[in-house]
Amino acid sequence: MDGARPVNPGSSPRTRVRRYPELAVKDPEALYRILDAGLMAHVAVTDETGQPYAVPVAYARHDDTVLFHGSTASRLFRLCAAGSPVCFTVTLLDGLVLARSAFESSMNYRSVMVLGHCGVLHGAAKQAALEQISEHLMPGRWKEVRQPSAQELRATAVLELPLAECSAKVSEGGPDDNESDLGLPVWAGHVPLTESWSEPVPADGLPAEFSTVPDYIRSWRR
Ligand SMILES: Cc1cc2nc3c(=O)[nH]c(=O)nc-3n(C[C@H](O)[C@H](O)[C@H](O)COP(=O)(O)OP(=O)(O)OC[C@H]3O[C@@H](n4cnc5c(N)ncnc54)[C@H](O)[C@@H]3O)c2cc1C
Repeated sequence: MDGARPVNPGSSPRTRVRRYPELAVKDPEALYRILDAGLMAHVAVTDETGQPYAVPVAYARHDDTVLFHGSTASRLFRLCAAGSPVCFTVTLLDGLVLARSAFESSMNYRSVMVLGHCGVLHGAAKQAALEQISEHLMPGRWKEVRQPSAQELRATAVLELPLAECSAKVSEGGPDDNESDLGLPVWAGHVPLTESWSEPVPADGLPAEFSTVPDYIRSWRR
């Protein structure tokens, strides 16, 4: 574990944003907001042969850590639990930027990168982390569903990664065209991209008494 260092985005030599440093986010609260808005992360590890693997996972932020869980048998969780260094990223795609040139065309986004080593959670901390991940993804659900059995808990690794070494970058707004391209006869601007939940679809064979979707699910917003 990396200990409880303060969250100070971009403050280490490894996490200093080099290209477009003006897009770097220094405020920890802004970094928390990006993590709290995301549902999915990619965790990259390198195996014994030197091959990197970037694996998508569900996650939640809890205070100054991110939590994620998975099968104890999977490569990612085996390597993380054995102390491999990890690179954890969350990317929220907010739109496309249509510049007058191909070169200046880009994306709007909010992204976070965390470097470090994971700790393995056990006992009450493990149980609490599972609830935190579930409540981040599906608020209101944990108290309704069957709780994990002892066998399910044994098969599940729950990892905690401190935000001690992290960075965040935010790109927003319209294109930054070259002065010489401003007169070109082409539309320019940006196209925002938004994410939203669609109408919930009941499971096959759901008893009639559950024909109404619970309010807590109806209240989910993206
Ligand atoms: C949705 C999306 C699309 C992108 N598309 C492109 C693309 O097509 N081409 C391109 O060149 N770049 C793209 N970027 C930017 C890219 O992620 C990097 O920011 C860029 O490659 C940084 O290069 P560097 O040499 O400055 O940083 P590096 O030396 O690679 O990074 C230095 C440190 O800066 C921090 N950092 C760098 N990038 C990010 C980030 N995005 N979020 C949080 N921390 C970061 C990390 O802590 C990293 O260790 C995209 C970003 C996003 C989120």
